[in-house]
Amino acid sequence: MDMTRRPRRLRRDGVRGLVSETTLNASDLIAPVFVDATTEARVPIESMPGHERVPVSEAVARVEEVLATGVEAVIVFGVPESKDERGSRAWAEDGVVQEAVRRITAETDAYVITDVCLCEYTEHGHCGVLASDARENWEERRSDPGVAGGARTGGGLTVKNDETLDLLARTAVSHVEAGADMVAPSSMADGQVGALRAALDEAGHENVPVMAYAVKYESAFYGPFRDAADGAPAFGDRRHYQMDPANGREAMRMAERDAAEGADVLMVKPALPYLDVVADVRREFDHPVAAYNVSGEYAMLKAAGEKGWLDATESAYESVLSIKRAGADLIITYFAEDIARSLP
Ligand SMILES: [Zn+2]
Repeated sequence: MDMTRRPRRLRRDGVRGLVSETTLNASDLIAPVFVDATTEARVPIESMPGHERVPVSEAVARVEEVLATGVEAVIVFGVPESKDERGSRAWAEDGVVQEAVRRITAETDAYVITDVCLCEYTEHGHCGVLASDARENWEERRSDPGVAGGARTGGGLTVKNDETLDLLARTAVSHVEAGADMVAPSSMADGQVGALRAALDEAGHENVPVMAYAVKYESAFYGPFRDAADGAPAFGDRRHYQMDPANGREAMRMAERDAAEGADVLMVKPALPYLDVVADVRREFDHPVAAYNVSGEYAMLKAAGEKGWLDATESAYESVLSIKRAGADLIITYFAEDIARSLP
């Protein structure tokens, strides 16, 4: 046995920190904030213990809680007072995100990112304008509540891609005009980054960065978020526009495309089941890489912690550290406040 190599020499107290390769800082973390126009009081999100939907009047207070932990950035999601077929409350000047962002940016120093999508604003819960066959199926289903299960869309595309781009661009511009510092398109429409970039530039917001949900998988780990943001599809699923979890090489093509369209930050979502993809994007691109440690990744640790099966605080730290080690510079996580509070 070759005993010249004894890695334990560097695991002793005093030297462990000197040779540590990865450090998690509060400034790496982005906390999601849910603002809900349908409520006057804070509503706990059952499947995400510790998180709440807050009314617009509480948005500043909620962000101040985040800032008090040392986390400096938030990503804002909205639940509108009403939904329609096209999701028009997404780009309304007096929409829930616009009102909240106006207050947050006026009254706090938080760096404010907004999620740009339509699924929380459309009655059907899809991330864009419905294709006609999908709409017929849906209307049939609505008029006959006896029809069970997810309506099929004839194998066709659920959402019309190009018609959706204009609505996403309008939404992004309205967020920036309300004060958003960065916009993050998440609908997975082809061309969404280019469409936002062009619209922002045209409106004189050429200095506002776009964080692309470049690599977003059709994941079972989004479940609790759909409770939080009330954005579950009324029928069908999102496999026609989100990525197949089987595909890693395709992720490079997605990131390449978004980089070419002007993305400033490239995101991978979810994080933990896709650390290989985070590492690949880190290696192949020199852009900052973001990873979204999603609601299901949060809920499973919290649930196991509540049962006493593992230590939720320590396992959360280890999870988020692993996301950074894989190559993420920015980490969106529901653990942001917990982790920031526990940092030395
Ligand atoms: Zn969406």
